[in-house]
Amino acid sequence: MFSAENSLIFTCRYGMMPGKKGVAMVGLMSAMGVEMALLQEQMTECAHQEIGMDTFVSGKLYGQDAVIAVCGAGKINAAICAWNMIQHYHPQWILNVGVAGSGDDSLEIGDLVVGTDSVQHDMDTTGVGDPRGYVSKVGIVRFPCDPVLRDRLLAAAREVAGDRVQAGTIATGDQFVSDPEVKSSIHALFQAKAVEMEGAAVAHACWMAKVPYGILRAISDNANGDSPRDFPAFAAEAAEVSQRVIFHLLRQGERP
Ligand code: SAH
Repeated sequence: MFSAENSLIFTCRYGMMPGKKGVAMVGLMSAMGVEMALLQEQMTECAHQEIGMDTFVSGKLYGQDAVIAVCGAGKINAAICAWNMIQHYHPQWILNVGVAGSGDDSLEIGDLVVGTDSVQHDMDTTGVGDPRGYVSKVGIVRFPCDPVLRDRLLAAAREVAGDRVQAGTIATGDQFVSDPEVKSSIHALFQAKAVEMEGAAVAHACWMAKVPYGILRAISDNANGDSPRDFPAFAAEAAEVSQRVIFHLLRQGERP
């Protein structure tokens, strides 16, 4: 069910229409089709464009101009897709939305994490004296989320999930974390609230292009020995919660 082939099968309520050039839009990216399916269903006036192996769909989401894409799991898939989205659509901000493993025991499956910043936990040049997670050239460890987008996301998330929402660092790496020791070491290094595989790569592309970035993840598993079973069981449910937050965010009608 959750395979790389599970990319968006783009259907759009009013069929295909030409895209508009020069319109400021919001960008939404997820790794798997299940993380974008409900948003995609609500999109109208869709225009499709293939760039490389990604399909971008632009149109209207709750009255806002938007572009959405499903990039596939992993940092390189995410970075390529984000870069292409930026170059071809010039979004005013990009939001990475989807599911994640919990970063500590205070979170349960179905809870939401709004990112304050993203780190690449598997970036490791400590052997030459750099701090863990340090990204050469860019020169930072933590990619900050846009504070306005973060606060609006937090407000929208609380409307959907009440007190089952936390804000914090979200750690990204090319690894499905299912070993509690790996999870604890990521938490010890970065105080991560969630672990996933794309966010900091989207953040990296956004940072380089000076595009505001935000991230919202719903917990699908606890990044431990139960994850191989929990992830397929709860990913769709968690993905639905995170997409409901985006509806609330966009419905506010204000552009962060
Ligand atoms: N072949 C599968 C891979 C899914 S990997 C596919 O293409 O569908 C898991 C996905 O969910 C990643 O996109 C990641 O961002 C997120 N995720 C959920 N739980 C995770 C965990 N415990 N560790 C890392 N990523 C996790």
